[in-house]
Amino acid sequence: MSRAYRDRGIVLRTHRLGETDRILTLLLQGRGKVRAVAKGVRRPGSRIGGRVEPFSHVDLELHEGRSLDIVRQVETIDAHDSLRVDDRLHAAASVMVELVDVVAAEGQRDQALLRQLQAGLAALEADPDSASVFVDAFLLRATSIVGFPVLTGACARCRAPGPHARLSVVGGGTLCDDCGGDGTRQVGSDVIEAVRLLGDDGSWQALPALAREHPEARATAGSYARAFVEHHLDRRLRSYDALERG
Ligand SMILES: [Zn+2]
Repeated sequence: MSRAYRDRGIVLRTHRLGETDRILTLLLQGRGKVRAVAKGVRRPGSRIGGRVEPFSHVDLELHEGRSLDIVRQVETIDAHDSLRVDDRLHAAASVMVELVDVVAAEGQRDQALLRQLQAGLAALEADPDSASVFVDAFLLRATSIVGFPVLTGACARCRAPGPHARLSVVGGGTLCDDCGGDGTRQVGSDVIEAVRLLGDDGSWQALPALAREHPEARATAGSYARAFVEHHLDRRLRSYDALERG
């Protein structure tokens, strides 16, 4: 006997299965990351086909299946259409969902990660011109939620109070002179501040000004964010390459 359940969350990605079906990867409020089959959704006139696009916030009814759950009903909470229409926003949102797909464990509830994704997608929709700085912030914030926070107020290794001028990807943030040695690059305080703002949960509003007023520091901090995330997750974020820098 399969059991039915209801849950809501974001469609991370979809791929084709057979002639008419799709497999959805979802991040759900109650069940965490779930993979489910949506049957017949690629047939013309499918009732739920248009509702299960990537980035959509949906309310679903599913049945537990042996390997994959089965989607029975879908209601749209917020389609986030603009994220699919605009190429630049699509690229930015794709990086966010790729990262979430990488860090979310299947069947493990993670409401903080879901909230962060919703905040990230909302920021993109509210201010498309700042898409790239929002993505870099999202990288550090989502990675922090799953256990890899970037440290900028103290030495990431010995916790000696900062500010420190050495910035290390492998070390996890700023390092003091003793811990940093000669191999760690020194950066200006504006770069450290930019990294801090990118990683600081809850300051989406400060990011457009950072990009506008300190473009060089923000660019250096953005490259650092990508390197930091790819190193600590041991994964390359492929969709980041399609992102327009700025
Ligand atoms: Zn130290």
